[in-house]
Amino acid sequence: MSTISQRLKTLQATLPPHVQLVAVSKFHPVETLQEAYDAGVRCFGESRVQELNVKYERLPKDIEWHFIGHLQTNKVKYIIPYISLIHSVDSIRILDEIERQAARQERVVDCLLEVHVAQEDTKYGFTPPMCLDVITPELVKSHPHVRLCGIMGMASNTDDDELIKEEFAQLKHLYDVLREGVMKNASHFNRLSMGMSHDYLIAIEQGSNMVRVGTTIFGEREY
Ligand SMILES: *Cc1c(COP(=O)(O)O)cnc(C)c1O
Repeated sequence: MSTISQRLKTLQATLPPHVQLVAVSKFHPVETLQEAYDAGVRCFGESRVQELNVKYERLPKDIEWHFIGHLQTNKVKYIIPYISLIHSVDSIRILDEIERQAARQERVVDCLLEVHVAQEDTKYGFTPPMCLDVITPELVKSHPHVRLCGIMGMASNTDDDELIKEEFAQLKHLYDVLREGVMKNASHFNRLSMGMSHDYLIAIEQGSNMVRVGTTIFGEREY
């Protein structure tokens, strides 16, 4: 058995059945993804449009591709034809562009709003109050080619498990408020994407149903 298939097995044994695994393959070569594919992986997460396009072209067509990085408006159109889920909608500007391109290409694209709760400074993502402000029936109505399926977030990059837990709990709370509120009648609003290699077990404990794991499967990335 290859190292990747062994690591996958070990990882999958820790995932409850309701949790979807997104194998984060950014910076790894096509051959490595093929190895994971051969071991059963059908859902990969990438963070750069050009790299994703190359991998999409070269790998089997039954793969679900997820976009997890910061998306630039001028690149949206290249992934619209085949993307399964965009986790990283971090501004209204990008949401508008996804709507525009999806309409032109006659697709409805599944998206998650990226929510910022971690302590690191970042220019990307909505704060929870912004998120509650922004998601309205009017927004949903004015973006018919975008299907809002949930939220995505990251915890602080720290060894402090209590802090990580608290941040994931904040995301879960926001998700529940939206689900029981403005998105109540949207049965597809059912994805809470949180948890990476070092914190996915805490994320699952706090209610994640989609984890984005790279290093644990593929080893360290070479940038
Ligand atoms: C790179 C990345 C991951 C995966 O991180 P690992 O620590 O390698 O598991 C998950 N989510 C996002 C948004 C990322 O950019």
